[in-house]
Amino acid sequence: MSANKIWLSSPHMGGGEQKYIQEAFASNWVAPLGPNVAGFETDLEHYLNENSFVGALSSGTAAIHLGLVLLGVKRDDEVLCQSMTFSASANPILYQGAVPVFVDSEPDTWNMCPKALEEAIVDRIAKGKKPKAIIAVHLYGMPFKADEIKTVAQKYNIPIIEDSAEALGSHFKGKKCGTFGDIGVLSFNGNKIITTSGGGAIVVPTKELKDRAVFFATQSRDNAPHYQHSEIGYNYRMSNICAGIGRGQMEVLDSHIASRRNVNSFYRDFFASIDGVRVLQEPTSDYFSNHWLSAIVVDSSEIGKTREDLRLALEKENIESRPLWKPMHLQPIFEKYPYYGGNVAEQLFENGLCLPSGSNLSQDDLSRIDGVLKNFFKV
Ligand SMILES: *Cc1c(COP(=O)(O)O)cnc(C)c1O
Repeated sequence: MSANKIWLSSPHMGGGEQKYIQEAFASNWVAPLGPNVAGFETDLEHYLNENSFVGALSSGTAAIHLGLVLLGVKRDDEVLCQSMTFSASANPILYQGAVPVFVDSEPDTWNMCPKALEEAIVDRIAKGKKPKAIIAVHLYGMPFKADEIKTVAQKYNIPIIEDSAEALGSHFKGKKCGTFGDIGVLSFNGNKIITTSGGGAIVVPTKELKDRAVFFATQSRDNAPHYQHSEIGYNYRMSNICAGIGRGQMEVLDSHIASRRNVNSFYRDFFASIDGVRVLQEPTSDYFSNHWLSAIVVDSSEIGKTREDLRLALEKENIESRPLWKPMHLQPIFEKYPYYGGNVAEQLFENGLCLPSGSNLSQDDLSRIDGVLKNFFKV
C-alpha cells in the first residue's frame, strides 16, 4: 500500500495550541491545575452558554464516574444506560459496584429509545428498585430525543447524566449538547472533535456542584493544613499542559464542526442515489449534529454486499472505517445485566459503518474515498 492512511478521525491542531503550552512552561505551571485549566473551563462555559459550570478532568470516563459519585450512586443501585454506545459510558457504573440496566435505541437518532426507557423504569420499580440515574448518549454527535427523554426522566424523578463526549457543538432546539442533563459529560480524547491529547470535562448547573466535583477530582482533601480525608478521593483533574492544548483547540472548534459537516454532506450527496444505504442525519430541523462521525447503514439484501465487504474494500485502499458501536448488552462483560427494548441497536451494529470523518480530510482524501465507493456501489 503506497497511499497514506486515511483515518476515521484523527487529531487536528489549529496552530494556537503551542502558545498556551509555552506559557505554561514559562510560568512553571506544569501541574494538574493552573491558568490554562481555569481558562479552558471559562472558554467551555462561554461556548455552552447556558449558565453551566465546567470542571476540566483527565477524561470523559472520569467525568461519568464523578457524575455517578455526585448523584450518590452506590453498591447495588441500578443505573439505566443506553446500550448502543462506547463502553466508557457504562464502565463507571461497575466502578461504583452498581448494576447497569441497558436500554435499546430508536431508529431516528440511534440514541436511547424513550419508550424502552419508560418500560425499563416501570419494570425495575415493579421488581422493587427505582433506578438512580439515566445515562443517555448523543452518539456520533447526533442529539438524542431530548424532549421525550427528559419527560420520562421527570415523570419518575430520575436524574440524567448526559454523555456528550461525541457531541460538543451539537444542539437541539438551539440548546447546546452537554447542558441537557443534570450532569453533562465532554471528552477531549485524541479522536474527538477537539482534543487535549486526552481529557474530559463535567458540566453542572451550579458553582457548588462544580466545587464538589473538583473536590472529588483532587483526592477529596478536607480543609486542613495537613492531608485530611473524610471521603474517597480521585485523581481526575486535567493537567495545565493538556488544558493549554484545549484552549488552542477552542479557537478552531467551529471550523472543525463546519468541516465535519461538509464531509457529512459529501456522503449524503453520494448516497442520495443509492437505495439500500441510509446516512445518519438530523430527523428534523430541531436537531443540529456536529457530525463527529458520519455513519451509514447498509441494507445487504438490497445492495447484495454487506457493510463488512465495504469495510474490507476501504481497508484495501488504506482507508479506515469501523462498524458502529457494539451494544453493551451483547458485550461479554455486560451481557448478564438486564436489557429492555428490541433489536434496533443490534441491527444497527450488524449493518452499520462509520466512515472517515475528520476535519482534516483533504480534497485528495475525499477523492480517494469517492473512488472506492463508486467502484464498490458500481455507480
Ligand atoms: C470517548 C467517549 C467516552 C469517554 O471519553 P474518554 O475521554 O475517552 O474517557 C465516553 N462516552 C462516549 C460515547 C465516548 O465516545
